[in-house]
Amino acid sequence: MHIDGAWLESCSGDYFESDNPFTGQPWALIPRGNRDDTNRAVQAAHKAFSSGEWPKLSASQRGALLRKLGDLLMTHAQELANIEVRDNGKLLAEMGAQLNYLPQWYYYYGGLADKIEGAVIPVDKPGNFNYTRHEPLGVVVAIVPWNSPLLLTAWKLAPALAAGNTIVIKPSEYTSASILEFMKVFEQAGFPPGVVNVVTGFGPDVGAPLVEHPLVAKVAFTGSKATGEKIYETGARGLKRVSLELGGKSPNIVFADADIDNAVKGAISGIFAATGQTCIAGSRLLVQESIHDEFVEKLVDFAKTAKMGDPMQLETQVGPVTNKPQYQKVLDYIGIAKDEGAETRLGGDKASRPECGDGWFVEPTIFTSVNNAMRIAQEEVFGPVLSVIPFKDEDDAVAIGNDVVYGLAAGVWTQDIRRAITMAERLQAGTVWVNTYRAVSYMSPFGGYKASGLGRENGQEMIRDYMQTKSVWISTAIDVPNPFVMR
Ligand code: ADP
Repeated sequence: MHIDGAWLESCSGDYFESDNPFTGQPWALIPRGNRDDTNRAVQAAHKAFSSGEWPKLSASQRGALLRKLGDLLMTHAQELANIEVRDNGKLLAEMGAQLNYLPQWYYYYGGLADKIEGAVIPVDKPGNFNYTRHEPLGVVVAIVPWNSPLLLTAWKLAPALAAGNTIVIKPSEYTSASILEFMKVFEQAGFPPGVVNVVTGFGPDVGAPLVEHPLVAKVAFTGSKATGEKIYETGARGLKRVSLELGGKSPNIVFADADIDNAVKGAISGIFAATGQTCIAGSRLLVQESIHDEFVEKLVDFAKTAKMGDPMQLETQVGPVTNKPQYQKVLDYIGIAKDEGAETRLGGDKASRPECGDGWFVEPTIFTSVNNAMRIAQEEVFGPVLSVIPFKDEDDAVAIGNDVVYGLAAGVWTQDIRRAITMAERLQAGTVWVNTYRAVSYMSPFGGYKASGLGRENGQEMIRDYMQTKSVWISTAIDVPNPFVMR
């Protein structure tokens, strides 16, 4: 683990295994942290926030450190990618692109660091000068999931550091290796010790004590709705700020007037990219009745061409599921869908292709005859499983699209500009894509409506979520008035 600028074993000296999903075998040992480790890390972060070099740095100097970190990440992209592919099963092709893009978070928030300005307020009280300052919160805990460890860490780390906070990162127990490797790169950037710390281990042993710790000011979380709710509850007791990026069951909606070939590609990337293990997966494909059968046929033909296998091979298009419990969960949901009466149009089982070896592979799966009330349409599967649901018209598409607890994202495929604008307005989702899917940028706010979360990540505004505002009053009066004379 990395605490106060040093590499440490866990207090207990225990380790746990991390598996390679392509081989189904353990490949790394990770220190198993507990409450004592979290306390060490939070104390280190608190010390770095309150004393020493970090609080003395100007915002411009913090920005320069972030930009240096961005440059170093660019240089070390290949090692980081290799480790995340091994630990997570993500495609090397995807990781390569992601790691070339990821430094942008550090450049963008590095640039923003010294542009956070307070205001001079022309207050209504004569003889007073009033201004505001935007100050950091203190110790921020970043709890990240297994599906995109380095990227989702960057989403939290870059703005939190730009704002002047210190951080404790808790990686997922399934994918800690790339974040530990990241710390090797981080060390070279020149941040003072204790500004960023990493404690590895399991949710109840490490995540929960971090959220409970009285010296923690904010928890930035990406993960499941169930854990998010727990964190919100625990955080409430200490009046901590909490931002939550949770699950989704996003509708990807294809109208008859869409460019059909583009929509097929959009539907495929919406569900099979990253083996469906993304919170924004377009897992409900809503297709207008008049084109339903033709569309499904094209979709199945395209999905059939997906090459599965070793995620390290650049030609592989669909990799394994990241961990064994998730693999089992995806297969269970396939069983549930079949029992509910969904018709299997493609896949519907584990993959037994020779190129998949003993890895945790699930065949790209497409179900039709799904209605929105079924569990397969309501619950997040987080795997390569698509449910196709027919709809009649715009009102019907909106009603079905919004009829889930989640509201993370939605896609709309149409060539009618009026329809595009109206649908973007009516869909209850934090992101709406029209004639595209999965576009995300460091510049544009990302987050959930309804049960998909609280707060936003990315973009300029959200840096305020890592800051608090102070109002300063200075009297310009020569004499302090008599306090017993009311005015
Ligand atoms: P998933 O594993 O489905 O992505 P989780 O919400 O279980 O979703 O995990 C996301 C992150 O939250 C992981 O780093 C996990 O260890 C952590 N976590 C799990 N339980 C807790 C908890 N009670 N408190 C804080 N963090 C937790």
